[in-house]
Amino acid sequence: MYHPASGWLLDEHLVRGLLPPRPLNSHKGLFGSVGILGGAAGMTGAALLAGRAALHVGAGRVYLGLLDDDAPAVDPLQPELMLRPAGHLLDAPHLNVLVAGPGLGRSAAAVGYLQHVLAADAPLVLDADALNLIAASDALKARIAQRKAPTLMTPHPAEAARLVGASIGDVLCQRVEIASLIAVRFNAFVALKGVGTVCAMPNATWFINASGNPGLASPGTGDVLAGILGALLAQGLSPRDALLLGVYLHGAAADRLRERGIGPVGMTASEVIGAARDLLNEW
Ligand code: AMP
Ligand code: MG
Repeated sequence: MYHPASGWLLDEHLVRGLLPPRPLNSHKGLFGSVGILGGAAGMTGAALLAGRAALHVGAGRVYLGLLDDDAPAVDPLQPELMLRPAGHLLDAPHLNVLVAGPGLGRSAAAVGYLQHVLAADAPLVLDADALNLIAASDALKARIAQRKAPTLMTPHPAEAARLVGASIGDVLCQRVEIASLIAVRFNAFVALKGVGTVCAMPNATWFINASGNPGLASPGTGDVLAGILGALLAQGLSPRDALLLGVYLHGAAADRLRERGIGPVGMTASEVIGAARDLLNEW
């Protein structure tokens, strides 16, 4: 078993001020373009949630590459998002960051698109079925370790178990060790999600998140985290800082909602997005 190095508590003190204030002469080109690969048939909502989260956390432009052939061309509730077929995502001009996984599915087409994304020279967030496809393929695993640009991985315990070939029970009993193992093995910045999310860095340092509550145990909140991380990377944060700020912010947004009397029962991922924006503008 891998023995990780030092660990810290991830609290507000650690992340406040990580996102620099916006200059008066800001323009959207300063805040990066995020491309999100996902949204297979029946799961378009996952990609939309990630895209909306990226937009509300400040990405300059957000493109969605959707696998569903029947996906809409526009999100009428969020027309700022640029929707296109998955095969055209990498043609988007100047994508600074890629996010792969929300609603991706496990089709042969998904594997093909994922291979392209892994080969791209841009910071990459891997979540959900991107992680499951990687867990099932030694070739894809090898590609991650070879990447030159930073990789972030956000497994929940079942995805982490598949990635390392352990049982979910083992992951839950050894969360710091497993998160650190994934970080070192894939040279990636890892959030092993759940109550007290473990953030593990490729240099084997780790953090345990103090924010969040059971309101987050609802559909789409993982997609929201992936979008938040994409937006923070696009705004120039280092992979370490993006992971720490993103994970803390996501939990703190749920805590803010609970202070307002929203949840934990029935808190929605869409509500988490709005609260994350509010907090980020206060910090
Ligand atoms: P996913 O499992 O991919 O949908 O992601 C769920 C998100 O909600 C992750 O960021 C988890 O850390 C978070 N989450 C779920 N349940 C809880 C909980 N009981 N306390 C704190 N965070 C949670
Ligand atoms: Mg998920």
